[in-house]
Amino acid sequence: MSLRELLRKNEVTLSFEVFPPKTSDRFDTVLATARKIAALKPDFMSVTYGAGGGTSAFTADIAADLEKTYGVPMLAHLTCVSSTKEYVAKTVEEYRRHGIKNIMALRGDIPSDGAVCTDYRHASELVRELRERGDFFIGGACYPEGHVECEHKADDIGFLKQKVDAGCDFLTSQMFFDNNIFYNFLYRAREAGILVPILPGIMPVTSKKQLARSVSMSGTAVPARFRAIVDRFGDDPAAMRQAGIIYATDQIIDLIANGVYHIHVYSMNKPEVAEGILRNLRDVIGWTPEGGVNGRALKGRGSDED
Ligand SMILES: Cc1cc2nc3c(=O)[nH]c(=O)nc-3n(C[C@H](O)[C@H](O)[C@H](O)COP(=O)(O)OP(=O)(O)OC[C@H]3O[C@@H](n4cnc5c(N)ncnc54)[C@H](O)[C@@H]3O)c2cc1C
Repeated sequence: MSLRELLRKNEVTLSFEVFPPKTSDRFDTVLATARKIAALKPDFMSVTYGAGGGTSAFTADIAADLEKTYGVPMLAHLTCVSSTKEYVAKTVEEYRRHGIKNIMALRGDIPSDGAVCTDYRHASELVRELRERGDFFIGGACYPEGHVECEHKADDIGFLKQKVDAGCDFLTSQMFFDNNIFYNFLYRAREAGILVPILPGIMPVTSKKQLARSVSMSGTAVPARFRAIVDRFGDDPAAMRQAGIIYATDQIIDLIANGVYHIHVYSMNKPEVAEGILRNLRDVIGWTPEGGVNGRALKGRGSDED
């Protein structure tokens, strides 16, 4: 089943994200890790893209390998702010050659030295370009707490609406640790006329260091309940890993209970975290190692015909 078809269904889906290596000597290790996650039979997987553009080949290679070997539908990320139009066109061709049909179209972070290429200013320009080509299923990023660069939430939602109107088929959110933030965002987005599927992005935090890094990059709020967990278990790696997996599981259960169908997990390159979440949710989402979520992996998932 294609990603387009999956997201159209009112059935719970669970997806995982991996990131490519920065250098080629790490490629085999990262691919082996990503394969372990794909072998768990999530509904789809995404592979991120290095903002500097240096890893586009790795993104395409990993996505193509996982789709071919495990039949898991793949979503390849692509950023544009540091790239020329020519480079983006070449990368899109490379994705097409690899059989990639789904692209997460992103601006990318502005590099700390401010060196951007002026061909693209916003993700919406990349979305429009991909839409004009006509043959990709296109995702965009959204930020329940507002994007760090945008002072006013209302403006951020307005720009998000422009991005969706440019051709996004769905959105995936930045991580959040308080589901009410996501529900409020969903309400504001729908009120602004954004009607495409919005996938909450759940980040299982398994170390104190990871939390500090994620929060400093995204500005995500840490609720007192989660802060207490990190304060209590942050110096005990095994306990923190378990507590982080359980906290993320709890967020997912609450989302499903409140009618959210499609959930994306920032599993990073951690098969044990992906597996921990699936095992915790076994009966909630009908996951088995053989059949994936709700037996979908046994029903010929991954075919192009849907
Ligand atoms: C689900 C998800 C996946 C991601 N994957 C990657 C990845 O693989 N690689 C990577 O490097 N980064 C990734 N990122 C991070 C992302 O690149 C950064 O957050 C980046 O700073 C913004 O990208 P965007 O696509 O949301 O940009 P945009 O949608 O362009 O928004 C960026 C900022 O510009 C503002 N804006 C948008 N349109 C306008 C306009 N017309 N006029 C004025 N302001 C405007 C927005 O309000 C926002 O503040 C991801 C983020 C998410 C949530």
